[in-house]
Amino acid sequence: VENSMALEFLSLPENVGLARVAVATFAAQVDMTLNELEEIKVAVSEAVSNAIIHGYEGKPRGTVRVTAEHTAAGLVITVTDQGRGIQDVALAMQPAYSTDPERMGLGFAFMQSFMDEVEVTSEVNRGTTVRMLK
Ligand code: ATP
Ligand code: MG
Repeated sequence: VENSMALEFLSLPENVGLARVAVATFAAQVDMTLNELEEIKVAVSEAVSNAIIHGYEGKPRGTVRVTAEHTAAGLVITVTDQGRGIQDVALAMQPAYSTDPERMGLGFAFMQSFMDEVEVTSEVNRGTTVRMLK
């Protein structure tokens, strides 16, 4: 099956659920276990939450773009923001690392354990793209 989708929304926390449901519904078009769908939902929620909370620092006027594509390699998901970007991606992806002392710093760890590949490209003051494969 070859199919693709794109979804764009403002950086409001209520849109995390929208992205999660949209991508999970799209993912379910191919053979996917319930467990895999749950894992995809968590990974998408974490990436979109990061875009909203960190990328746009909670400001509601940013745009988050989510795409998903069924490819020969599997389901490819991207989450993109044009927010503040990440200075040191390798450091940011370490489990328990957070720039916010109130947070656990486990978002990237969840994405990495639930998806087969997680690739982050980021430029300070330009934004961040998280690309995940399942
Ligand atoms: P948790 O996900 O457990 O609530 P967290 O969001 O801090 O905590 P991660 O999701 O692993 O942990 O992200 C680690 C750090 O990477 C964040 O604290 C933040 O500094 C940075 N980061 C992640 N995503 C983005 C983004 N889209 N834009 C800017 N910085 C980001
Ligand atoms: Mg996070």
